[in-house]
Formats: sequence, C-alpha cells, structure tokens
Amino acid sequence: MNRYHRAVFQDEAAFRFVGGRVSVDFTATHGLRWRDPSVERIPAPADLARWFIEAGLADITVPVSASTLRSARDLREALYRLMRGRVFQEPLDRRAIDVVNRWAAKAPPAVRLTADGLAKRLVEPTAGGLLASVARDGVDLLAGPHANRLRKCSSDTCTLLYLDTSRASSRRWCSMEVCGSRDKMARYRQRAAV
Ligand SMILES: [Zn+2]
Repeated sequence: MNRYHRAVFQDEAAFRFVGGRVSVDFTATHGLRWRDPSVERIPAPADLARWFIEAGLADITVPVSASTLRSARDLREALYRLMRGRVFQEPLDRRAIDVVNRWAAKAPPAVRLTADGLAKRLVEPTAGGLLASVARDGVDLLAGPHANRLRKCSSDTCTLLYLDTSRASSRRWCSMEVCGSRDKMARYRQRAAV
C-alpha cells in the first residue's frame, strides 16, 4: 500500500484522487454523503486552494474567498448530481445543468510554454478560472464518449464516483487498496466466523 492509500485509510479528510478525471475527483471533496455529518474535505477557503494544487490544476496557492468556496461547493454538488444521475440513469437535474453551464462559460486560466519550451505554466490563475476548468472537464466528460463509464464505488458505505476505464468494464471499487481490500477483509472475517 503506497503513501496515498495509507493516508486515505487513516484520514477521512484526505483528498481522494481515484476518479480518473479532475471533475470526478472534485465531487470526492464531499465524502460519506449518506452519513450525518458527511465529510466536507474543503471546509475552509485554504482547503480549496490546497485541492487545486494536489489535483494538479495549479502550482501556486491561489486566493480563495469565502463566497468562492460556497459557489465551488455548489458546482461540486451540481457535478455530483449530474454524474450520479448518469450512473443510475436518473432524470436530469436542470438546476445542476444551469450551475455547471454558468461555470463552464467562464474563462479558464491562460497557459504559456516556458522559455525552454518544456513546461506549461498558468498565467495568473484565479480560483474562479480553475473552477471553470473543472466545470469544462465535467461538460466534456458528461457529453463525451466516456460518460457511460461513470460508476459509483460498489461499497455500500462509500459514495465516491470514478470512471471505469478497464478494458472489460469490470472495476468495482473506487480503489482496490481501500474499498476493495475492506470488502476482502469483511469476506474473510465472515468465513472465519462460520
Ligand atoms: Zn469506495
């Protein structure tokens, strides 16, 4: 088990990056959605700034206001509703579509190639611009050929979504190392108890 999975096992608040797309990973900043309280992984503006970096969207800490954090969560919940709707073939949530479209209409940060021509840098990234990138990724995903590969983790207690890119379309868990091995352990215990 690598450091990432160990952290996820031990720390409910650790960010999850198992979705396969940045827009899917963004929905994972809200975890254990069935539980009261659920897990809010971006409780403060600084957490959203940290998520942008850990998600690979930014290489610097961008300023995040309290109101941007609130609308970021709105975008997140809208993406989640639409993606979950896809997984379970539920009717479209029009309000969620409006929220995603509003963000996708905004400009993502400009990019530039570094002087040596080897690396990409963002030009003055803002939280709003980065959220626009997330929303655009969500639109590309939901309207693209991989939308039917969206899944919810098979664990009853895990609400993470992911893109199943396995050839046989047979991935069952958000992460084999976390939910997959929890399931394996539970089965083992059941057998041992008999
Ligand atoms: Zn899971």
